[in-house]
Amino acid sequence: DSTQGKAAYQILRTLVSAGYDAYLVGGCVRNVLLGLPIVDFDITTSARPEIVARLFPHTVETGIRFGTVTVIHEAVHIEVTTFRSERKYLDTRHPSEVQFETSILADLQRRDFTMNAIACSLLGELVDPYGGVKDINERTIRGVGNPMERMREDLLRCVRAFRFMAQLGFAIDASTFEAIASCSDKLEQIARERVGVEWRKMISAAHSIPLQQLADTGWLRVFDLSYRLEHLPKWQVFVNCYKNMTDEAAQLALLARLLNKTEQEFGEWLRSLRYGRETVATGRQILACSMRLQIECTDHERSGDQTFIFLKDMLFAYGLQIAIQGVHIHNQLHPAHRIDETRVRDVCNAMPIHNSKQLQLDGRDLLPLAGGKGGPWIGQMLQELAMGVLHGHLPNQRQQLMDWAKTQIAERKQNG
Ligand code: ATP
Ligand code: MG
Repeated sequence: DSTQGKAAYQILRTLVSAGYDAYLVGGCVRNVLLGLPIVDFDITTSARPEIVARLFPHTVETGIRFGTVTVIHEAVHIEVTTFRSERKYLDTRHPSEVQFETSILADLQRRDFTMNAIACSLLGELVDPYGGVKDINERTIRGVGNPMERMREDLLRCVRAFRFMAQLGFAIDASTFEAIASCSDKLEQIARERVGVEWRKMISAAHSIPLQQLADTGWLRVFDLSYRLEHLPKWQVFVNCYKNMTDEAAQLALLARLLNKTEQEFGEWLRSLRYGRETVATGRQILACSMRLQIECTDHERSGDQTFIFLKDMLFAYGLQIAIQGVHIHNQLHPAHRIDETRVRDVCNAMPIHNSKQLQLDGRDLLPLAGGKGGPWIGQMLQELAMGVLHGHLPNQRQQLMDWAKTQIAERKQNG
């Protein structure tokens, strides 16, 4: 009885009153049977796309070639797709030909897994020709009909199977598993955008990434993760602890730490999974921050004062948000050298400045001190002044900062 549910009900009613068959299908039916929240409602109907477009006042022809029209009902968007079958497959990604069908059975036949091939009518009657309800009860992911054919037709289905494992905690049925494994040599053919979408759904899913199954079928490579046996224990660490973190960039940085990726390699990996610029930049900073934490904070010889100085430097360099994520990673990897998050926040709050822009002078003030000649020295001097203020050696007062800078310049001239 959500707004989405009400809209879906109204759309089904309109189609049925006009004399067409119409059903809910796919993820919404599956999730209702599982008692899980519904992500989106998909409707399938015998009405041709041009008829769907005519029956509703507000529609968008989303994928008219494949029979999909988006109906907008009171600001809710619902995809309505005409019953269809897919004939020959020219490549493994796009059906070469879409044929519209008049029966729901023909439509269910083209779907990926039995649990997704259940239709539900307006009256709540289920059409379930492939035993989808039984497979849902047995928590099994099973290809519709001949799994080998289904997987080969569209390799994205293999990636979807792993994603559903992570979302639902289901197991893949043996012959479907075999079919998926037999396709792994062709995984380069899948569009990277689609792989990225599935990866993101998988890493944010309720259950862990099924890495053992990914490794066993040869599909780990699709996520650009080279699989080496010695990595597996580290993978287990990742699986055990990434769920403790909520920030996606930090989860990814943790994985990069476990796989010994450099910042550069990490950035390339994220780009290959089609992460946005911002996630790549943030992820790299979190990774760098956590690496510095390991160097500085797993050393028993260090005094409390040294750690305090280091924390201030780190907060100044990365800012509180990144530093906290770096600390989370550190605490997952080195529980024996745990850093208290509250302590980090307290240190941050007590800092006199958090970046060099907060200094009571800027580059333009320094310029005349060297006869108006700019250059990298200005940035360096600002950094030195900021460090002085940060660690309490200098007050953040314009005149005193100027005097200190002057002395420094004079001294450096003398020393050549
Ligand atoms: P989600 O909860 O992520 O929306 P979903 O099962 O609804 O999961 P969608 O991608 O929304 O997944 O697809 C809707 C339905 O379309 C699926 O349930 C399935 O029946 C069918 N489908 C989607 N992708 C494929 C595919 N590659 N091959 C065959 N059928 C597919
Ligand atoms: Mg869906």
